[in-house]
Amino acid sequence: MEKLVSPKVTKEIVERYGFKFSKSLGQNFLIDENILYKIIDGAEISKEDGVIEIGPGIGTLTQVLAERAGKVVAVEIDKNLLPILEETLREADNVEVIHQDVLKLDLHGLIRDKFEGKPVKVIANLPYYVTTPIIMKFLEERIPVSSMVVMIQKEVADRMQAKPGTKDYGALSVAVQYYCEPRMITKVPKSVFIPQPKVESTVIQLKVLENPKVKVKDERLLFDIVRAAFGKRRKTLLNALSSSNLGLDKEKIKEILSKSNIQEERRGETLTIEEFAYLADCIFAYRG
Ligand code: SAM
Repeated sequence: MEKLVSPKVTKEIVERYGFKFSKSLGQNFLIDENILYKIIDGAEISKEDGVIEIGPGIGTLTQVLAERAGKVVAVEIDKNLLPILEETLREADNVEVIHQDVLKLDLHGLIRDKFEGKPVKVIANLPYYVTTPIIMKFLEERIPVSSMVVMIQKEVADRMQAKPGTKDYGALSVAVQYYCEPRMITKVPKSVFIPQPKVESTVIQLKVLENPKVKVKDERLLFDIVRAAFGKRRKTLLNALSSSNLGLDKEKIKEILSKSNIQEERRGETLTIEEFAYLADCIFAYRG
């Protein structure tokens, strides 16, 4: 089978099947070999690995993943792509295509049934409309994968990697960095897709930490505090937390912040994950 990653081959297949790109499913297919190998090399896959690919499209990445990985399970939501994938992946006997919305899939069950204890990595050129929910599903549900290499909208990648005190630092930065170590692999121009998207992309690797970056007594409380702190970005921490639904009045928040050694006039966007964790444990202890 010819390599799919070229404008000519991709166009030929799309036309032959009369395939219509769906904007709402974020369908922009990769046509650049250089970027394709950056994604695949960045994922550091060996024959020992299992791979979950989200949204294979016409199978452009899948074809190469099949050569590198032990087994690939590709989850595609669009039934119009199934006959195409049947043709393009005909020779790849270690690939299984599942027709499903990845957000509705029982991923724990899938890994148990399909990978028999092999280490599993995720690779995806993600549809922009569901990037964050898909990544957070893997992280929050503690799906046992060692890393995720994802091509996503540049702005979202910037937020995932942002450090405290920068304009991009927010609740998403804390959530992603609580579970993972992000590493930028490459920037991606619009011109490497058919059709061209409106936004620039970035490929990042999220290496899933064995244990979350900080230890807290109550994870939900930690994220309630993070959301409250960033919900009102311009407010001081004291005002943001006391006007949130944490159920603590200004005096109590004052006392807790002082105990945590965090000045009340600081803004949420300056707090490190360690400081958020310490604050969460102080509030936890206060609530008793
Ligand atoms: N991997 C291909 C490539 O790089 O050329 C296609 C990438 S395209 C940006 C995103 C793919 O994800 C499309 O094939 C789309 O149909 C699929 N998709 C969109 N939403 C999905 C979902 N919720 N679950 C599974 N696949 C989805």
